[in-house]
Amino acid sequence: MKKRWLGLAMAVMMAASLAGCSSQTEETEAPAETEAAAETEAAEEETEAAAEETEAAAEEGEEAAAESPFAGQTLIMATNAEFPPYEYHEGNDIIGIDVDIARAICAEMGAELEITDIAFDSIIPEVQSDKADFAAAGMTVTEDRQTQVDFSDTYATGVQSVIVTEDSEIQTIDDLAGKLIGVQQGTTGDIYSSDDFGDENVQRFSKGADAVQALASGKIDAVIIDNKPAQVFVSENEGLKLLDTAYAEEEYAIAVKKGNTELLDAINASIASLKESGELDEIVAKYIVAE
Ligand code: GLN
Repeated sequence: MKKRWLGLAMAVMMAASLAGCSSQTEETEAPAETEAAAETEAAEEETEAAAEETEAAAEEGEEAAAESPFAGQTLIMATNAEFPPYEYHEGNDIIGIDVDIARAICAEMGAELEITDIAFDSIIPEVQSDKADFAAAGMTVTEDRQTQVDFSDTYATGVQSVIVTEDSEIQTIDDLAGKLIGVQQGTTGDIYSSDDFGDENVQRFSKGADAVQALASGKIDAVIIDNKPAQVFVSENEGLKLLDTAYAEEEYAIAVKKGNTELLDAINASIASLKESGELDEIVAKYIVAE
């Protein structure tokens, strides 16, 4: 497991001492005089070299994780494991992109990961009431949710997509007017379609897969759900197709309790290092076969 962000944190501390200023190393905050600025720059160059060494050392798996405030703790992740390829059941295990990302984040902190699998619309209350430390559930950042939890930096994009039967007359989003739309309860697919097409035209299911079954058996006219699970469901069910149009574009992020900046900062540092090292792409590639 890579511990790049801890390596960088150490490098920043070294830069601070080399530059002879307290803890500020950013150029904008360096001393105004040219000489001092030049010294700072030189120090930063040395620091870059040192950072590489530090990173190399950290990557060899030394005790860097022990410096995390979460080292040795068990962090509970709330999710709804009905959302392939982000989180789903395989035998007795819950696997997927979010699970691997959460594992990587916890490994960087030296923490253990525990997963609690609950209804999607219970996830935010679970985090708010401290029953879970964070949520990783292909969760879209929305303004309303931002008033309830704090979101990390985004780690993926999602698209709300429309599934219909192959012989459906529905070809565009507008054609959905007056039709019966299946959604997973509490998701953005539910929120947006209820707003746009009216509550009475939306049927809510506890699992996306159940909505898809209802569509396959002719009980509803369409399903609105995130594109990646949509692709999985279409590939697993005969006679269904995806409309070639995006209903809404979204960003996924990890949620923590409002004000838990210590955990949020650690998660963001890990997300940044997973992006930079290419590990995030590797995780995604493991679960999403290129189209
Ligand atoms: N991205 C959607 C949302 O946040 C659906 C997530 C999910 O079903 N796990 O509402």
